[in-house]
Amino acid sequence: MDCGTFTYEAAECLVRWYRKNKRDLPWRKTHDAYAVWISEIMLQQTRVEAVIDKYTAFMQELPDIAALASVEDDRLMKLWEGLGYYSRARNLKKCAAVIMARHHGRIPHNYEELLALPGIGSYTAGAISAIAFGIPAPAVDGNVMRVLSRLLGSADDVKEPETKKNFENILREFYRDHPCSPAFVRNLTQGFMDLGASVCLPNGRAKCTQCPWQERCAACKNNLTDVLPVRGKAPERRLEERTLLIIRDGDSFLLRKRPERGLLAGLYEFPGIPGFCTKEEAADAVSAMGYEPLQIHVLPESRHLFTHLEWHMHAYEIRVSGIHEENDLLITKRELLNRAIPSAFRTYLEYYSLRQ
Ligand code: SF4
Repeated sequence: MDCGTFTYEAAECLVRWYRKNKRDLPWRKTHDAYAVWISEIMLQQTRVEAVIDKYTAFMQELPDIAALASVEDDRLMKLWEGLGYYSRARNLKKCAAVIMARHHGRIPHNYEELLALPGIGSYTAGAISAIAFGIPAPAVDGNVMRVLSRLLGSADDVKEPETKKNFENILREFYRDHPCSPAFVRNLTQGFMDLGASVCLPNGRAKCTQCPWQERCAACKNNLTDVLPVRGKAPERRLEERTLLIIRDGDSFLLRKRPERGLLAGLYEFPGIPGFCTKEEAADAVSAMGYEPLQIHVLPESRHLFTHLEWHMHAYEIRVSGIHEENDLLITKRELLNRAIPSAFRTYLEYYSLRQ
């Protein structure tokens, strides 16, 4: 990496700015490691506004590691509903069980031990170390990479894992050369987060005139804020066509559990078949499941974006009678609206929430 170094003056300047401008967020009312951990996992790939209410409800119901380790899976999924990427919730529970078994229910006060826990990567280990314990450890995610790329004028591709390691090393060297108090480490770490979230924004929206680093930032001085950070081309999303079979018997809906591995693992969904099919083909598919289609009608189309995949969905509502539940789940409309169903099916949940 051929770029400037992160200086103590830059760090002090950011800490001063953070003290004046920090966002008032519920997880910032404490340095408790459990609260820091839950909030950081929720915030991954999810907007702060979407997390606030979910975080508060989650902490009320699962206030500590023991409660998380023993929560029912369905309840956990419900608490996570709307945040997406449900594997994060499952990993939280798995990790809580390991902390109960290996660390007497206490989150370890040590970066390396945190990193050894399931579902905790270098960013989360760094964030918990720094914010909860004041340990000088780097917490580098996409926001921090954008801020550092611009400040230091780095042209390295932030999609390369090597670039993240380089930024982590820059911060490690900074902490090695400049011993900092726990309070300074906390403020610096959260200062990076807030600067990336509210000032040094992506996609041509950097607010350099409000930035404490305006005078020292390489990108700002050289008119490169629209160029940095350098991002390799994102892989194109694969397009997948699906037909949903929304099978109803009276007031009840038939749901099927997805496989325990892969996309939306272990969650309930409306049964689907690959490709778009006609009414007759949909009726045949339902017959093949062992039900006799009585009525069928077309529902609205929808689409859903995953990170690497895009679903285009056609859907039919198919009325049947005498559903048996051997491998499937039969639930009423009220239960349907209260259960954690992946947001990929939001169009249909909204459709039924508006109808008798
Ligand atoms: S001066 Fe502009 S580009 Fe540089 S860190 Fe601040 S907001 Fe980002």
